[in-house]
Amino acid sequence: MARVVQKFGGSSVADAESIARVARRVVETQQEGNEVVVVISAMGDATDDLMDLAQRVNPNPPGRELDMLLTAGERISAALLAMAIDARGATAVSYTGSQAGVITTAAHGNARIIDITPGRIVSALNQGHVVIVAGFQGVAQDTKDVTTLGRGASDTTAVALAAALGAEYCEIYTDVDGVFTADPRIAPQARRIPQINYEEMLELAANGAKILHLRCVEYARREQVPVHVRSSFSDQPGTWVVAAPDIPSGGIMEDALITGVAHDLSEAKVTVVGVPDRPGRAARVFEVIAALDVNIDMIVQNASVSDDTTAISFTLADADRPRAIEGLRLAQRDIGFTDIIYDDMIGKVSVIGVGMRSHPGVTARFFSALATIGINISMIATSEIRISVVVGEDDVPAAVRAAHTAFGLDSESGEAVVYAGTGR
Ligand code: ASP
Ligand code: MG
Repeated sequence: MARVVQKFGGSSVADAESIARVARRVVETQQEGNEVVVVISAMGDATDDLMDLAQRVNPNPPGRELDMLLTAGERISAALLAMAIDARGATAVSYTGSQAGVITTAAHGNARIIDITPGRIVSALNQGHVVIVAGFQGVAQDTKDVTTLGRGASDTTAVALAAALGAEYCEIYTDVDGVFTADPRIAPQARRIPQINYEEMLELAANGAKILHLRCVEYARREQVPVHVRSSFSDQPGTWVVAAPDIPSGGIMEDALITGVAHDLSEAKVTVVGVPDRPGRAARVFEVIAALDVNIDMIVQNASVSDDTTAISFTLADADRPRAIEGLRLAQRDIGFTDIIYDDMIGKVSVIGVGMRSHPGVTARFFSALATIGINISMIATSEIRISVVVGEDDVPAAVRAAHTAFGLDSESGEAVVYAGTGR
C-alpha cells in the first residue's frame, strides 16, 4: 500500500461543485489501494477576501489575530471536503495544522516549520480514513498560538507532511497542466516540462515562476520528496520535480541548454549615488538594509571614474523599497553618499538550466537575442545554472519570448497552449 499526499489549491476547491470533484479524485486514489493525506487551500479567493476584511477594520492588524482569521479559510475547505468524501461513502477526518502536528516558529504570517508530529494522522490512516489537513498553518512551539506559513505555503505544508509521513510522492493539484518553459500567458509557445530537477525548479521558483512555493521546493530537495505538479481539471500527467530526471535537461530535448525562462515584475532597483570609494562604505550600505530585514537580489557597483566615489545599485522587492530608502536616508550623513534614486519600472528575466554548466556561449546567445530586438540590459547576475538580466518592465514580455525562441524552447507545433488558469 502506498502512502500519498495530494494538495489542492484554491482554484481547485473554489465552489461546492469543485469540492465534489476533488472528493471524487481523493476517493478514487484511496480505492486504488493508497493511504491518502490531503492538504487543502482556502476556497478560491477566500484568503484575499479575509485580508481585505482585516484591512478594513485595521490597516495594520496584529499578526496573531490575522493568523487566527486567515487559518479559518483552510479550515472551511477542509471540513467541506471531509463532508463531500463522506457523501461518497468513504470516511475522512479533517485537522487544522495544529491538530495535524505542524509545529512552527512564532513568526506570525511567515512562520517556519520546526517539526511535524504526525501521530494523529497516522492513527487515522490506520483506521482507514482519508486525512485532510488545512494548509499553510501550524502552531507555535513556544506560544502555542496559531500561525501561518506565508502566502502560497500550502504547497510547503504538503511536501513537509509527505516527508514526515514517508509518502511515496506528493501531488500538487492546480489549475494549470504543470510547470512550463515560460509563462504561457506571455509566451504562447511555451510547453509543459515533463520532468525537472530540484535545482532548476528552485531557480525558477526563486526567479518569479509562481507555480510552486519556493520553500516547498527547498523542502522537497532537502527531503528528496518527488513532487508531481498537475491539473485537478484533467487526468493528464503534469511535471515531476525529482532529483534526477530520466529524460535529460528538463525532458524536452536531448541537448537543451536551457530548461526554462522565468520573469519577475515585483522588484525595484535602488541606486546609491556618490558613495565614497573607501573600504567599509559598501558594507555600511548593506548593514543598513540587513538591519531592516530586507532581502536584496542583484548588486552592481560601478568603478569610480573621475572622482573617488562610486554608485551602488541593487534590486529588492518593490514592497520593501520605501523602508530601505528611508533607512538609507537616515544613514546618509554617516555613510557619506550624495543621493538615492530608484526605478520601479523594471523586470527581471532569467534563463535557467543545468545544461549551461557544460556549454559555453549561453550568455552570448541570450544577450544577442535581446540585442536583436533592441532591448537594453541594465543589470546582470548569474549563478551556476542561471543568467538573469534586469530590463525595463515593458520589455519583459518581448525579452521572455526572444529568449524562449533563441534557446529552441518554442513548441514545434507552434500552437498556443490553452491556458486559462492562475497556477493556484
Ligand atoms: N490560502 C493561502 C493563500 O492564498 C495558502 C495557499 O493557498 O497556499 O496564500
Ligand atoms: Mg500556489
